[in-house]
Amino acid sequence: MIIFPVMLVSVVFVFGASIGSFLNVVVYRLPAGLSLLRPPSHCPHCLHPLAMRDNVPVFGWLWLRGKCRYCRTAIAPRYPIVEAVTGILFVAVLRNVAGPSLLNLDPVLLLGHWILISWLLALALIDADTMTLPNPLTQSGLVLGLLYQGAVGWSATGQVIGLITHLMGGIIGAVLGIWLLDAIFIIGSMVLGQAALGGGDAKLAALMGAWLGWKYLLLAGFLACAFGAVVGTTAMALGWLKRRQPMPFGPFLALGTGVALFWGESILSIYLSLFFPAPNGL
Ligand SMILES: [Zn+2]
Repeated sequence: MIIFPVMLVSVVFVFGASIGSFLNVVVYRLPAGLSLLRPPSHCPHCLHPLAMRDNVPVFGWLWLRGKCRYCRTAIAPRYPIVEAVTGILFVAVLRNVAGPSLLNLDPVLLLGHWILISWLLALALIDADTMTLPNPLTQSGLVLGLLYQGAVGWSATGQVIGLITHLMGGIIGAVLGIWLLDAIFIIGSMVLGQAALGGGDAKLAALMGAWLGWKYLLLAGFLACAFGAVVGTTAMALGWLKRRQPMPFGPFLALGTGVALFWGESILSIYLSLFFPAPNGL
């Protein structure tokens, strides 16, 4: 087992944190219908443009002790937290994709999982903030998922038929995602007497299916319902959430996808060995 070199982990963390910094911009501006590129980053209070040194992910905030350099207004800790979490997730993806050795690291898998994690983070945060999942994000994420499947098929087999097979797997996953959300909606309506799943949730599930394929999509959907049920009942018990008050489902779908991405293989093999043990003598 290779111990990951500190240098590599640091570089990947800083890269991920910079992506996280951009995700903060996307989460703030996309639902508001603002341009992602213009104007450049500025303090939301005094509107002073941020210099390079103010914009250093995580460390910039720590260095300025959570205040704007120009007007000293407090900057929410959420921004550096999102940056740090993205950085950590990028390192975790590298570990997960590389396995025990960096030598057979698959660049398609690595890049793909980084892209998926970034899309999921942005969608989860926007849904938590605004109870919406913007079309530009879910649609582009779906297209990227299908492109990813094609690339995986091509890099694994080097043949057009491999590309097509994987692409078909992605398309089937996407269609199944929409059905799965329908099923969750119907069951949710019967169990809770209400279910407020929006069209955005179905589009997110299609995105998940395209990236994960049908097997891990089902796992991710199941996990999302389980997480949602636990958090929902806890929040209601603590009085944070009133009965009938809608709760965004996107963050749970994103979380389920993340868990399926990192631990899906282990979870499925434990599940199979519990419920479908190999017959004796085989
Ligand atoms: Zn300011």
